[in-house]
Amino acid sequence: MSALADRLHSVRAGIEDAARDAGRDPGGITTIVVTKFQPVSLIRELAALGVRDVGENRHQEAQAKAAELGDLGLRWHFVGQLQSKKARQVRAYASAIHSVDRESLVDALRSEEASVDCFVQVNLTDDPGRGGVAPDALETLVEKVLETPGLELRGLMAVAPLGEPARPAFANVRAMSERVQRLAPEATSLSMGMSHDYRDAILEGATHLRIGTAITGNRPTGG
Ligand SMILES: *Cc1c(COP(=O)(O)O)cnc(C)c1O
Repeated sequence: MSALADRLHSVRAGIEDAARDAGRDPGGITTIVVTKFQPVSLIRELAALGVRDVGENRHQEAQAKAAELGDLGLRWHFVGQLQSKKARQVRAYASAIHSVDRESLVDALRSEEASVDCFVQVNLTDDPGRGGVAPDALETLVEKVLETPGLELRGLMAVAPLGEPARPAFANVRAMSERVQRLAPEATSLSMGMSHDYRDAILEGATHLRIGTAITGNRPTGG
C-alpha cells in the first residue's frame, strides 16, 4: 500500500472509532480531504482511493485544480477566507462554501439561477483576522443568508482556537448550532474537526471533517 493509502486508511479507522464511541453512524460523517498546496497528481491518487470530497482555501489554486480535474467528478469545498469580488467565481466550481462570515459576502454570493451549499463560519477567538462571524452576530447573519436566493444554508463551520482544548470549543459550536436551528431547522450540519482534533469534533457532532496533513502528509510549502 502507498503511504497515502496507508494514512487515508488510518484516518478512516480513527473516524470509525470515534463515531462508535459517540454512538453515531460513521455514514453520517463526510470527510473532506484538504488538498491545499498539494499537486493535482496527489488529488488523482486520492480519487483513485475513493475520495469524493476535497477542500481548498485559495481561489486561484482551487479554480485551476477544479478545471484540470474536471473528469474526476469530485465535490470541491471552499474552506478559506473569501474576498467578495471572488465570490461569483468560487460559486462556479464549488459544491459548498464553508466560510460565509459577513453580510457583504452573502450579497456577493446571491444568485437567481443556481444554488450552492454554504456554512456560516463562526469565529471562536477574539481575533477578527482569523475569519468567521462573532458569536453575538450569528443570528443576524443567518437571517441574511436565509433571505438571499441561491444559498442553501447547511449549518455552521468553525476552527478550534490554537492552544486550547478543542472539545469545549466544539461543544460551544454545537450549542450555537441549536440557536441557528431555531431559525433554520434544516441547518443541522457541523463542519469542524481537522487533522489533530477530528476525534473531539466527532464526539461533539461534527458532520463534515476537514482533514489535510493527517491524510496528505506534510504540505510542500507553507499553509
Ligand atoms: C488547512 C485547513 C484544514 C486542514 O488542516 P490540517 O491541520 O492539515 O488537517 C482545515 N480547515 C481549514 C479551514 C484549513 O485551512
